[in-house]
Amino acid sequence: MRGLFIGRFQPYHLGHHEVVKRILEEVDELIIGIGSAQESHSIENPFTAGERVLMISRALDELGVRKKVYIIPLEDIYRNSLWVAHVCSMVPPFDVVYTNNPLVYRLFKEAGFRVLKPAMVNRTEYHGTEIRRKMLEGEDWEKYLPKAVVEVIREIRGIERIREIAGRDF
Ligand code: ATP
Ligand code: MG
Repeated sequence: MRGLFIGRFQPYHLGHHEVVKRILEEVDELIIGIGSAQESHSIENPFTAGERVLMISRALDELGVRKKVYIIPLEDIYRNSLWVAHVCSMVPPFDVVYTNNPLVYRLFKEAGFRVLKPAMVNRTEYHGTEIRRKMLEGEDWEKYLPKAVVEVIREIRGIERIREIAGRDF
């Protein structure tokens, strides 16, 4: 059985990581779709698709995952009614979708897919928007991310980037 888990992963945090671990107990193979792949260098979407691939792939290395995981960037098509077909055209065939995002849930359900909602994991802290706010405001952010992801963000000078793009005109 092959599962699909889609997110923007801006950044990939410990909530995502825990969900992935749990899904991997249920499926033979997992596809991780990176949504809004074309976006980067903005407050909502600071990291490129490639940087997000690196975060996820290194975090999975840390887990020593033996199962097959496909990490696939997915660009937005700005047309919700056609989005599921777009995703299907980009990823290997799958049997089940895992999501806690209401729109993603609705779209795959309408298309006739089996969709499961993974249990939320410490959502107050493991929440992308909140983690990006902490990065911007100089609060602790490292403890909400897998160690490998912290390393990637350091390597790419991610915090500097977020603060710079949030700044005012010179
Ligand atoms: P943002 O605030 O930027 O939307 P996010 O934390 O919701 O960040 P997404 O990339 O939007 O991260 O999430 C991808 C998927 O993971 C979605 O289905 C989302 O509901 C789910 N998810 C996010 N955080 C958690 C969590 N702490 N526990 C379980 N599922 C989560
Ligand atoms: Mg979200």
